[in-house]
Order: sequence, then structure tokens, then C-alpha cells
Amino acid sequence: MDLHSELEAFRAPIARWVDERLLPQAEALDEAGEFPHALFRELGALGYYGVMYPEDVGGSAVERPYTAFTALCEELARGSLGFAAGVCMQGSTATHTIHQWGNPMLRERYLEPALRGEKIGAFAITEPNAGSDAASLRTRATRVEGGWRLDGSKIFTTNGTVADFITVVATTEPGKGAKALEMFIVDTTWPGFRVGRRLDKFSVHCSDTAELAFDGVFVPDDHQLVAESGSAFLNAYQSLTVDRIFTAALALGNGRAAFEAARRYAGEREQFGQPIGKFQAVQFKLVDMYAKLEQARLATYHAAALADAGKPITTEAALAKIVAADGCHEVCQMAMDIFGGYGLMKEYPVQRYLRDSYFPRIGGGTGDIMRLVVARQLNL
Ligand SMILES: Cc1cc2nc3c(=O)[nH]c(=O)nc-3n(C[C@H](O)[C@H](O)[C@H](O)COP(=O)(O)OP(=O)(O)OC[C@H]3O[C@@H](n4cnc5c(N)ncnc54)[C@H](O)[C@@H]3O)c2cc1C
Repeated sequence: MDLHSELEAFRAPIARWVDERLLPQAEALDEAGEFPHALFRELGALGYYGVMYPEDVGGSAVERPYTAFTALCEELARGSLGFAAGVCMQGSTATHTIHQWGNPMLRERYLEPALRGEKIGAFAITEPNAGSDAASLRTRATRVEGGWRLDGSKIFTTNGTVADFITVVATTEPGKGAKALEMFIVDTTWPGFRVGRRLDKFSVHCSDTAELAFDGVFVPDDHQLVAESGSAFLNAYQSLTVDRIFTAALALGNGRAAFEAARRYAGEREQFGQPIGKFQAVQFKLVDMYAKLEQARLATYHAAALADAGKPITTEAALAKIVAADGCHEVCQMAMDIFGGYGLMKEYPVQRYLRDSYFPRIGGGTGDIMRLVVARQLNL
């Protein structure tokens, strides 16, 4: 099967699930601002959290996992970017770390149930004082008999209040930067772990975002993620790069939803005796929106195809995130303009698309940090 047919065969059933199951609930989920447990389990039971993984851990062993997971993120975000953000975490960063650097016990206890949607995972690096400068984090891992003791706090952790297990990045030597960072799997039932609070947001309401506290959490040695060479964290940095492609896909799906809503509305809303879509000014806006979506789509799937081919993606993943996150944010702004006053009303989803379009600009590294990455690649 050629790439296009293969991708469409993968996309069709998930697009149908989004139309039939997610879209009818999307507004209510946004309004409630709660993590959608039932839908999350339902999607897990369908096997979608295993798209990136081989069969031996319960994955779906698709031929081009990065492209397929990109399509999954895009389609889900077309329904609800908030829901899609939690899935993206579950099917990628939160599970990838265990698959790559976890021992068989960790795979069996956390990874396999997570791929079935029975356990929820999270990944916590960001701290109140360490965002873009993640290597300056302060959560401390101290050697104790039989393992490590974790002390510190994390912020903005996606799936944080509902997680069963969290990959926590901590420093073994404060002040030593990225070289001293290690990764640990923390079971959220362990003593000393606590959810500080669930954070209330302006955007992606049904994505769960938490502040977490670690007060002397004992982590046994077998819950440390270990790489063959160097710290697991430095190896994991590569997986954070891949996530930029998936975040770009989240932006693209949400942008597509905004475009389709605006196109429909332009055909229905009449002013001066004709549909507003007959005015050239509105048509040009829709064409500009379409052009931005195409740029986002090409950049995102190009980066995913390189990842599937095992090629370097540092530049392309950062570029995809810049092009898709910024471009689709503008698409949402233009959609709001086409809706006029109705765009501001909660009964139309276009205000949700605009609010949610801020998340891909920040999650996984801000646009400026992406530009820094590309500038370094260009030796500027
Ligand atoms: C909804 C949501 C979910 C998230 N989920 C997770 C998660 O699951 N796990 C996790 O660990 N983190 C998560 N994050 C954190 C996210 O990765 C950080 O918010 C992001 O990396 C930016 O960090 P910051 O918010 O501290 O901003 P800051 O680093 O304080 O940046 C503030 C501003 O300064 C600019 N800036 C900073 N440094 C530079 C520089 N060197 N050059 C130019 N400009 C610079 C930035 O571009 C930005 O405009 C999430 C964030 C959000 C909002």
C-alpha cells in the first residue's frame, strides 16, 4: 500500500470515532473542565495508545508509527484539543520513556496497562522556577539505601492529578545542569507524593494540568530509568524533540476545525442580501486560512516522515511546531473575525478553537525556544 492509502486507512476509523463520540461531547467537556475518564478509557480499549509501540508490549506495530501518531493527534484535536493533549501525553512521552529505558517489570506494571488505557501516565520536568531553562530544575534525587529519595515540586504536569505513574526528572547534583538529570518512575500511590492542586486554565479545559509535590518520596532502584550510555534524561531529550511534531499536529487539527466552522458559517450567514462568503474579503480570509493549514500540514507530516525514516529531525520538528502552532493560531483568529459578534458567544465553538490554539504555542517548548533550536542548527 502506498503511503497516502496507508495513512488514509489509518485515519478513517479514528476520524469516524471523533465525529461520532468526541465531537458531540466536546463543548460539554470544555464547559465541565474535567478529565474525560470514560472517553479516555474507551479510546485506550480501541488500541490507539499503542500506535507508537511494537506488539511485544501490546502496541499496534504500525509500519510508520510517527506518521500514524501524528494523524491520531490531528484527528483528535479536530474534535477537542484538550482531550487530544492528554492522549498525546499518554501515547508518547509518558510511555516512551518506560519503553526505551524501563526494565521488564516497569513495562509490565505501567507501560502495558497504559497502552490498554487502564493506567494513566504523565511526564514532569517543568517546575515553578524552571520552564524553558529546564536544566536548572531543583527537584532533588538523593541516594539512599536501595534507591533514591525525591524532594521538590513540579508544575503544569499534563494528566498530573489523574496519573497512576509519572516520569519525574530530578537532579542528583543541583547546579550541575543537564548532565546531573535522571528520570524516575513514581507510582502516585507512594507515600510522600501529593497533588498540590489542579490548575484552572483559560485554554484546553478538559486537559488535566497539575502542580505536584514530592516530600521524601522513596523510589526503589528498579524504578530508575537507565540508559546504556549516559543519563537516561540526555537520551530522552530526543523523545521530547519528537513530541514537537505531535504538538504541531494538535495545532493542525484544531486549525482545521476552525477553518471548517468558518467556511460553513460564511455560507450560511447573510448580510446585505447575500451569504458573507460571497464577499471577496471573506473569501480571501478563507484562502489565507487554507494556505496556513497546508503549510502546517506539509511541515508536520514531512517531519513525521523523516522520523519514520530514522533521519535527524531536530530542525524539522522545531520548524513544524513554529509553522503549525503560529499558523493555526492565526487561522483561529481569522475564523473569529468571520463569525463577527457570534464568535464571542459560547454557543459557537470558534472561541474554544482560539483559546485552545494558545496551547501548542507553549506546550513542549515555546515558539522562541523553537527558534533558538533552529538558530543553533543553522550555526547562527
Ligand atoms: C497547558 C500546559 C501543559 C503543560 N504540560 C507539561 C507537562 O506535561 N510536563 C511538563 O514538564 N511541562 C508541561 N508544560 C510546561 C511547558 O513545557 C512550559 O510552560 C514551557 O516550556 C515554557 O516554560 P514557562 O511556562 O516556564 O515559560 P518561561 O520559560 O518562563 O518563558 C516565558 C517567556 O520567555 C521566553 N524565553 C525564555 N527563555 C528564553 C530564551 N532563552 N530566549 C528567548 N526567549 C526566551 C519564552 O519564549 C516565553 O515567551 C505545560 C504547559 C502548559 C501551559
